[in-house]
Amino acid sequence: MTQQTPPPITPPQPQPESDFYWEKCKEHELWLRHCKACDSTYFYPRDICPGCFSRDTDWIQSSGRGILHAFAIVHRAPVPAFRGKEPFVTAIVELEGGARMPTNIVDVEADPEHVKIGMALQVTFDDLDDKISLPKFRPA
Ligand SMILES: [Zn+2]
Repeated sequence: MTQQTPPPITPPQPQPESDFYWEKCKEHELWLRHCKACDSTYFYPRDICPGCFSRDTDWIQSSGRGILHAFAIVHRAPVPAFRGKEPFVTAIVELEGGARMPTNIVDVEADPEHVKIGMALQVTFDDLDDKISLPKFRPA
């Protein structure tokens, strides 16, 4: 049996509302949308606040610090592109300011002994190609 090279991971496709977000990720900066009407920060980037539906929103730079809100350890690749990367950690990280984002936890052993709810995390960027850098998180 021959081992095939897995297909590449399909990169996210920036949209008009998220172009700025992806440009800043490329510079290894994490920026979030902020609602001036209810003073909340949220993810994913969109013009209308998901909390109060205000359009009075802008961008703010995140510190990149957060805590682990939830996680799962993936032992079987959900699609061929992830073959050979398992086990890996998928997670929801709660950033300073309250926004929660889906991501991966890296630089940690994918084992419940090492991944803990509430652990302090720091953003890091995975340069997928010349256009997309994915924000991921590592222990702070
Ligand atoms: Zn709002």
